[in-house]
Amino acid sequence: MDVGRIIDLMHETMRRLEVRGSSQGSRLRLTALKELQEEESGDPLRILIGTILSARTRDENTRVAVRNLFSRFKGARELADAKIEEIEQLVRPAGFYRVKARRIKEVARMIAYEYDGRVPDTLEELLRLPGVGRKTANCVLVYAFDKPAIPVDTHVHRIANRLGLVSSRSPEETEHMLMHRVDEVYWKRINDTFVMFGQNVCKPIAPSCSVCLLKDTCRYYREKELVNSSSSNSSKSSSKSRRSTRGVGGR
Ligand code: SF4
Repeated sequence: MDVGRIIDLMHETMRRLEVRGSSQGSRLRLTALKELQEEESGDPLRILIGTILSARTRDENTRVAVRNLFSRFKGARELADAKIEEIEQLVRPAGFYRVKARRIKEVARMIAYEYDGRVPDTLEELLRLPGVGRKTANCVLVYAFDKPAIPVDTHVHRIANRLGLVSSRSPEETEHMLMHRVDEVYWKRINDTFVMFGQNVCKPIAPSCSVCLLKDTCRYYREKELVNSSSSNSSKSSSKSRRSTRGVGGR
């Protein structure tokens, strides 16, 4: 199955869940980066800082921290010259606030003084920014500059492996395999769709396979079914043999 079809089925699964959830008052939300892209017209600095803040925290915490920070500081130069303690307090809701504040200040300094206040738009230059790895750089390319790239976080890595699109041990390996196997026209849609699907359907623990429209093609689901059917067969055959043993003993 091609990735375009997979993406469509993920959206259809989430749409059905949303219809079901809306009657109970719960609605699926866009990811924090997608929201930033839509609300701020993809402002590259906010997307970059939002990606740094989103590490190991929930989307709602990222939203609050980004809002706090940019209601106080408008550009890279202001952030570069800000007191670290002030940045720490503003980004505190995102957790690991000391490390993240230091990273934000270092990145802002380089953007302000080496790139004249403009976030660079190539992978090579983004990777030069302090502490910026491939996932963050690729997020900036996709969400800020609308360039084809595949940011691989824990959701993309897990789901690509569960579906059988790749067999990989690290997000970097997943990124390279996906770039090799998936048509470039789909690259920009992978992160947003897989992350939302991972937060709402294909969760790390207890994925909602029963409602998932991908189960017919999913490797993880097929293997789980195989284990379930073989364990139910073996429990049936052992209870049969217990019955026949009782039968022999009863004669
Ligand atoms: S593991 Fe379950 S929820 Fe995830 S893609 Fe496969 S069938 Fe869907």
